[in-house]
Amino acid sequence: MHVTMVKKRLANGEPCRKCAQAEELLRNRGLWDRIGDVVWADEADPASPGMQLGARLGVTLAPFFLVREDDGSETVYESVLKLVNERLAVAAKPVPAPALADADLDAAARDLAGRDPSEILRWGLERWGSSLGIAFSGAEDVVLVHMASEAALPFSVFCLDTGRLHPETYRFIEAVRERYEIEIALMSPDAAALEGLVKRKGLFSFHEDGHEECCGIRKVEPLRRALGTLRAWATGQRRDQSPATRSAIAAVERDRTFSGADGPLVKLNPLAGWTSAQVWSYIRDRGVPFNSLHERGFVSIGCEPCTRAVLPGEHERAGRWWWEESTKRECGLHVGVAPPKR
Ligand code: SF4
Repeated sequence: MHVTMVKKRLANGEPCRKCAQAEELLRNRGLWDRIGDVVWADEADPASPGMQLGARLGVTLAPFFLVREDDGSETVYESVLKLVNERLAVAAKPVPAPALADADLDAAARDLAGRDPSEILRWGLERWGSSLGIAFSGAEDVVLVHMASEAALPFSVFCLDTGRLHPETYRFIEAVRERYEIEIALMSPDAAALEGLVKRKGLFSFHEDGHEECCGIRKVEPLRRALGTLRAWATGQRRDQSPATRSAIAAVERDRTFSGADGPLVKLNPLAGWTSAQVWSYIRDRGVPFNSLHERGFVSIGCEPCTRAVLPGEHERAGRWWWEESTKRECGLHVGVAPPKR
C-alpha cells in the first residue's frame, strides 16, 4: 500500500492551514512515515502535480490522500481521520483477544484502578479495537471519543436515539461526528414496542408511573441490541455523579446485566475516578465539542421531558427525573452491575 498526500498551496503562495493541521495530526500520532509521498496542488498552477491528480480523480478539496494498493487499485480519502481510522490504524488493529476469565479481569481491574483514563481506554482498545463501543451522549462520553481518537486505534461509537432528545443534543451528536469524522451508530427504539406504549399510555406516562417502562423501550432494549454486537463497552460514568447509585463503580468490571457478541461483556468506566471539574478542564483545554445546553444550566443531560437545568448548589443528577426518589434516578443502562471482586 502506498499513500500519497496532496497538499494545497494557495494562490498567494501560502500553504493551506487545513493541510498543515492534517500533517500535524499524522506526526503527533506517529503516522507521518506512513505517507509515501507528498505532492503539491498549486492553486495558481493547474499543471502542478497535485492539481493534475485532483483533476484526474475529481477531487477539489485539499488535503486529500490517494491510497494505491499493490494490485494498482486506488482509493481517495478526503478526511485524514478517516484515513487514519480505516487504513493507517489498521496496522495496529488488535487481534481479537480471547475472553477474559473473571480472575484475569479482576487482576486487570486492580492494575488499572487509579490509572489515567486514557490508559484505561487504551488497554481496552488494544484488546478489542472496534469491538469496544463507546456509549456516547454527554460531556464525559465525548472525552472518551477524544481519547480514543488520540489513541489512533480502531474503536466504535453508538448513541441511544430515544426520539425525545433535545434539538441541541442532536446538533451536538452531529458536531462530534463531524469533528472526529467517525460513524456514530444511532440506536432507535423498537417501533412496535414504542407504538404500543404511546398508544396505551400516551407520551408522558413516566410522570404518572415512573420512567422505567419508557426508558426500557427507548433506552434499555436498544442498548441491549447495540451491546449484542460488541465484546466490551466504555461509559463516561463517574463515581461522584450519584452518591446513591454510582459510588461503587470500578474502572474495569464485568457487565453483569448485559451480554456481548460472545456472551460475557466487559465494561470500562475510565472516568470513574474523575470529577466534573476534571472533565470540563479536559474539554476546555482541548477544544472538545460539548452540548450547548451546558451553557444554560444543564449538567447531566438526557431526554428533553426528563431533564431540567439545575440550580447552583444542586447535585448534577438533580435535573434528571426530579419527580422521583434519588435512588431511582438511573435509566436501566447501568443498574445491576456488580463491582469486580477484590
Ligand atoms: S428519559 Fe424520559 S423520555 Fe427518555 S426514555 Fe426515559 S422516561 Fe422516556
